[in-house]
Amino acid sequence: MNYIVLDMEWNQSYPRPDAAGKKRVRNEIIEIGAVKLSEDVSFLDTYKRLVRPAFIKRLNSHVKKLTGITAKMLEGGGFFPDVIDEFRAWCGEDMCLITWGYDDVPMLISCLKMYGLPTDWVKKWYNLQVIFNAQTDGGSNQRSLKYALEYFNCEIDEKHPWHDALNDACYTAAICRRLDLPAGIAAYGDAGPKISDYELISGLRPLAKNRYIYVLENGKLRCSDAFNHNLCPVCGERMSRGRWVDMGRRKPVTLCECAKHGKFVMRLGAVNSGGERVAVKVTYESTPEAEAAYNRRLERMNEKGGRKRERAAEQKKEEKGQTV
Ligand SMILES: [Zn+2]
Repeated sequence: MNYIVLDMEWNQSYPRPDAAGKKRVRNEIIEIGAVKLSEDVSFLDTYKRLVRPAFIKRLNSHVKKLTGITAKMLEGGGFFPDVIDEFRAWCGEDMCLITWGYDDVPMLISCLKMYGLPTDWVKKWYNLQVIFNAQTDGGSNQRSLKYALEYFNCEIDEKHPWHDALNDACYTAAICRRLDLPAGIAAYGDAGPKISDYELISGLRPLAKNRYIYVLENGKLRCSDAFNHNLCPVCGERMSRGRWVDMGRRKPVTLCECAKHGKFVMRLGAVNSGGERVAVKVTYESTPEAEAAYNRRLERMNEKGGRKRERAAEQKKEEKGQTV
């Protein structure tokens, strides 16, 4: 099995309302860089391709500054489905993906879905940060690539700047070679220290905080109607809301979506304020990794619910069988 060390750069749309108010694409991959390592973690090949944007036509100035990629350069990029075909052929069948951080693979999956392309081939992937932490100081923070390179006294070449997909993939591959990658992968999942979903959510940037006082009505505590108006922190319009999911420490979390401004993470809490019970809703910016964590929890919840319903149906059948 080969290791494909992957890094990508993506463009971001500007968070401003668009005329049609239709669902906007927030992120779009513009560059794919990768290093292929053999089973014994020796260098085999590199891959680098620019992708011509099809959804977000305007290059975000921050992204441009960070990556050095210009709109002109992207005009010469490949059509995403073609690049993916080529990339998959280059990867080969027997491989797993290695990334630095939790962002790249969920981003890749979301772009594949945008084009209706299969996503099953990216299922096997590992965040090298987890393996790095497990095999160095056992920490649980998400370390930067720079931190890891300095930890191993790896050379950081000024001619190979950060935020170039291939350069970052090469730097990540250099870390792979300093670690015991097969052992790290074998221990990944159960023993590897991971960032908990709760930490992930609490690490997001808060955008709005709303407080709702509970009122006593017909002997029951209830929140004002405004509690159910999940307002977009950008435009103040009502958003659609997903199911509440426990993301750890019994803090319910949900994903809301504004028709104009996309998804936001919302967390529910309660505080006592001057003898009154107050519900607090905090709205955060959303990230692909937060959405992936939410969807994972939701899936688990649905599975549990499904099994419960199945058992109930089975039992009903049995009972019926007995009465017939
Ligand atoms: Zn909005």
